[in-house]
Amino acid sequence: MGELHISSCPWLGERWNYLIRLYNQARLPHALLINGPEGVGKAVFARAFSTYLLCQQRADGRACGYCKNCQLSQSDGGHPDLYVLEPEERGKPVRVDQVRELTNFVYSTAQQGGYRLVIIGPAHDMNVAASNALLKTLEEPGQETILLLLTHRLGQVMPTIRSRCQRVDIASPSLEVSVPWVAQKLQIEEEKSRQYLVSANSAPLAALAFEDGELGVLRQQLISGLADLLKRRRTLVEVSSAWQKLDLERMLGWLHGLLGDLARLQIGQGDQYLRHRDAENMLKALARRVSTESLFAYIDQVAETRRALLARTNPNKQLLIESLLLGWLGLARG
Ligand SMILES: [Zn+2]
Repeated sequence: MGELHISSCPWLGERWNYLIRLYNQARLPHALLINGPEGVGKAVFARAFSTYLLCQQRADGRACGYCKNCQLSQSDGGHPDLYVLEPEERGKPVRVDQVRELTNFVYSTAQQGGYRLVIIGPAHDMNVAASNALLKTLEEPGQETILLLLTHRLGQVMPTIRSRCQRVDIASPSLEVSVPWVAQKLQIEEEKSRQYLVSANSAPLAALAFEDGELGVLRQQLISGLADLLKRRRTLVEVSSAWQKLDLERMLGWLHGLLGDLARLQIGQGDQYLRHRDAENMLKALARRVSTESLFAYIDQVAETRRALLARTNPNKQLLIESLLLGWLGLARG
């Protein structure tokens, strides 16, 4: 599968047309905060919009694909007037000296004499020093400089940065759109495509990642850990230590989804409403034992843990996992 193009992601079209209208009316703001779930296509969107603005022969809301600038945009090195600012390591915040390098770029002259574009992602993962350095650029950007900031955690973007950007919200498409789309991209059955999408919270590009195996394996580790605990095949300490290396935020998202299914079963909704088929047997067995009260208390606990994790107020991962697993075991006691 090659690189995704904006025209092959139909759910991005509406926001795309909106920006093109702003551009045609000369009302394009110099900073956009592109907000939406992980894997919805924010980076594809920002790249395509950069290519569009850099193109010398834009027509009908599209880049031509052939001019010198389009060729530069498509080259491995990228266009010299596009600057992409991202953490040097995935999961690490953007550093202040990286933002300073960006400032140099913004105040230099565009090499091709047109726009200069900056893509910053993720915009929420920046310490205070880096955010303050960026703020100066947002307040006084150079001529014809457009900054595109990406985030999937709007609440964590500094308010001073948020207030200087125009927001562009991108939502995940409905399953009616995404199930056939993912099935076609991966050449798989729609049933499997639906399963990937449910696990990916409906974000199509995130769903694609399940096929390469890595995410599927992670998810299997979550489900087998939970099932093994219930069946006493492994102890709490064993499961907890196996989970130490996992991305807890993602795991909590999945756990939250599983509990939604458990609640549906518990109030007597039929099989057809189950979303997480890969955990079907475990959920059905558990639904017969769990009490409504303890289930909803646990859902609250998981939601609270997610909030704490996002706010980074509780860094003790081991403690967090153990109390989650303890709560899970508590469900089985009714
Ligand atoms: Zn072009």
